[in-house]
Amino acid sequence: MGIMLHQSRLWTSNPATFRMYPYGGLMIRPAKLADAIADYIEKMILEGVLRPGEKLAAERELSEKLDVSRPSLREALDKLQGKGLLETSKAGTVVAQFLSPLSRPLAELFADKPRVTADYFEYRRIIEGQAALLAATRATDVDRAALKECRERIRRAHDLDDPTEESSADADLHLLVYEAAHNVVLLHVMRVFSELLRNDVLYNRNQLYRRFGVLDQLLKHHLAIADAILSGDGKAAEKAASDHMKYTFETIEEIRRDEARVEVSLRRVSRSDLLAGG
Ligand SMILES: [Zn+2]
Repeated sequence: MGIMLHQSRLWTSNPATFRMYPYGGLMIRPAKLADAIADYIEKMILEGVLRPGEKLAAERELSEKLDVSRPSLREALDKLQGKGLLETSKAGTVVAQFLSPLSRPLAELFADKPRVTADYFEYRRIIEGQAALLAATRATDVDRAALKECRERIRRAHDLDDPTEESSADADLHLLVYEAAHNVVLLHVMRVFSELLRNDVLYNRNQLYRRFGVLDQLLKHHLAIADAILSGDGKAAEKAASDHMKYTFETIEEIRRDEARVEVSLRRVSRSDLLAGG
């Protein structure tokens, strides 16, 4: 007799992170139940249905919903913990930040290097455009609902003049586009970059948001990207995403140039202090 596993809702305790598992149910043979459960969860992590940092439902609740014994479930969770995909503490079991080992050396490599920033934006312009194009053709109803919700979050944060929330929703919107592109390689690689961005490794996002007029411009871009994907217009989505990266890079460069100018002026002031008769 087989057991049906249904949707990812079963796995997460947070309803806001609810995402339908696109492959529907999975038949599981009791003989290798623990392995089958582990494989199933692993697949959901690989496909980005379960995201790093998300908390699984409590063991008792999970075993009830899946109608599997707690020892089998525990064995499956242990297996995934051994692989570094899950982390268990007193607070419960969460999907591990399993990409962090990759992002740490990248962060050191990329820190404070203008040339790397230029290469990064060139790369992102290509990837972001392609991801938006794919998302426009591949987004499922679940992806679309998440995109709509995030679009409203950005709009709300903008109206409330809350740049911290707006920047967080900004990063989330891009992640949702990668998810909607349904390419797992793209998704995981871009997740690493997203972490670097959130930690201001490549540039200071606060500085960007504080610059006059930037937030209004970014809002327009984000709405254009979301709208084009939601209306299934791949070309428009690609252009909006690529324009967004071009503008962001140019603004970062402008900020750098302004800073350099201020530094030179400051040096001039201290020069006159150092000279006789100043
Ligand atoms: Zn953005």
